[in-house]
Amino acid sequence: MPVDAAVERYREQFRREEIGGSYRGGLHLAFTSLVSLAVVAFCIASLDQVSPLEWLTLPSIFMYANLVEYLGHRYPMHHPVKGLKVLFFRHTKQHHRFFTDKEMTFADSRDFKAVLFPPEMIVFFLGGFGVPMWFILYYTVSANVAWLALAMALAYFLNYEWLHFAYHCDPRSRIGRIPGLQALRTLHLHHHDPRLMTHFNFNITYPIGDWIFRTLYDSKSQQN
Ligand SMILES: [Zn+2]
Ligand SMILES: [Zn+2]
Repeated sequence: MPVDAAVERYREQFRREEIGGSYRGGLHLAFTSLVSLAVVAFCIASLDQVSPLEWLTLPSIFMYANLVEYLGHRYPMHHPVKGLKVLFFRHTKQHHRFFTDKEMTFADSRDFKAVLFPPEMIVFFLGGFGVPMWFILYYTVSANVAWLALAMALAYFLNYEWLHFAYHCDPRSRIGRIPGLQALRTLHLHHHDPRLMTHFNFNITYPIGDWIFRTLYDSKSQQN
């Protein structure tokens, strides 16, 4: 399928300016996956006789993460906010120019760079938010709640990365044909339509925030 000329020009520029010669997309994906899974496994191994009330940490953090994903994407990633302009630049100015609803797929594994969070940002988020959250919960609530919260946060993050990655794979590929993926991918495809991107489908994973705030755009229920 021929790539749109404007998108192709931008892709060439991004590849030239942003993707170093030594970049390996497969290694990037492996780093994100292994670091996240290792932290989740360590957290699970640290649990000790979790009470029924403590298990509620999982759905609570899941909902919290879904709203952070929604609000972070709706506001700082699509509007320049003081102190967070890097998010706007990386998302609106780079990701949305590299992929549009007409051109959604990677050309090859080097293009993973246009989707995945950079490894240093994962380390920054883990150190800057995950560890402080763990300390606060550990000393104010309980050790189990701290471990469960950190496990859920990392599992959610990895789920976000894997789903977003899968949406930008060729829909006919083995990953693109995973059952259930198509419906979520279609929501993200609409979000990549430049006319819709600042209005609809801000959840990358499950459209709970979009449902709550009435910003869900579903082609089956709305006219184009
Ligand atoms: Zn995307
Ligand atoms: Zn967006």
